[in-house]
Amino acid sequence: MKIDLRSDTLTRPTPEMLQAMFEAKVGDDVFEEDPTINLLEEKSASLFGMDAGLFCPSGTMTNQIAVNVHTRPGDEVILHKLSHLYYYEGGGMMRNSGVSVCLLEGERGMITALDVESHINPADDVHRPLTSMVAVENTMNKGGGAVYDFHELIKIGEVARQHGLTYHLDGARIFNALAVTPQNPADYGKLFDSISVCFSKGLGAPVGSVLLGSKEFIYKARRVRKVLGGGMRQAGYLAAAAIYALDNHLERLNEDHRKAKILGETLKGLPWVEKTLPIDTNILIFETIPNLPAPTVVKALARENLLCMDFDKQSIRMVTHLDFTDEMLDKAVELLKSVRFN
Ligand SMILES: *Cc1c(COP(=O)(O)O)cnc(C)c1O
Repeated sequence: MKIDLRSDTLTRPTPEMLQAMFEAKVGDDVFEEDPTINLLEEKSASLFGMDAGLFCPSGTMTNQIAVNVHTRPGDEVILHKLSHLYYYEGGGMMRNSGVSVCLLEGERGMITALDVESHINPADDVHRPLTSMVAVENTMNKGGGAVYDFHELIKIGEVARQHGLTYHLDGARIFNALAVTPQNPADYGKLFDSISVCFSKGLGAPVGSVLLGSKEFIYKARRVRKVLGGGMRQAGYLAAAAIYALDNHLERLNEDHRKAKILGETLKGLPWVEKTLPIDTNILIFETIPNLPAPTVVKALARENLLCMDFDKQSIRMVTHLDFTDEMLDKAVELLKSVRFN
């Protein structure tokens, strides 16, 4: 039995999801004639109480489009230095949109309203790049699936509004955050100018993300998607998987969270683990003891068919997901307790 906890992107469509894909009605989406994509866009937008949506091949593309529509070349975007938008998108913000970035620190990958406010350049100072956008990530991958305090997100929104900045949410894993907090999707829709949501992470679809925003924003986003080569044709087969996920895979995210906590509890008690980050959702990050480099642990576990990822020299990430069963959980716990490093 191979247990793969490297990422929640590794899931395969379930038989039921495949059936939904098989039965999808499709058309040419560049002509805006794919009924299943149109349905997914409407369904996602209305779930978050936003005007419109745009289905894209990846979350990187939805993020990149948001930056491109919200900014002009030379503008500055405020975000955490470990946010996906900056750290994991190949320099895309700078390359595709010619923006500069103001990278904030912050515990577990999260930024604060106070910090945002103190890093906004004065708009009347021609020497400085014009700050025009702020972006947050929820849940925060590099922070170990950390969930923002919603009140902080409101405060950041207030700062953004006062200073005329657009406010973007990289909500690749927003449903993981929603599963553990009292807010509903519409609370997020009210707060942000744009939201990016991934279907290919915890929701278990094979491909795709949706970008949400106002009608005018999505109208502009559609052109940028085309420019980036993201205009797909009969992609309703993919949208059908996303719709299936929205209808069937939201509640079960709690399962992933429960399993992550059990893994975390196991790790806490092990002599080769220095410490674990708090576990809010489906991502767990832990540090190995000083003389034990993370890659050594990753290799030893891989020999036992338990796959995870080294995040840096001393830290390792595990992500629970749809294809990680209870049987695998038991086996993983057993392996973590018995693994040897020589
Ligand atoms: C995965 C992810 C994305 C988008 O990734 P794609 O692989 O391009 O779909 C964006 N933001 C965060 C936080 C992610 O984890």
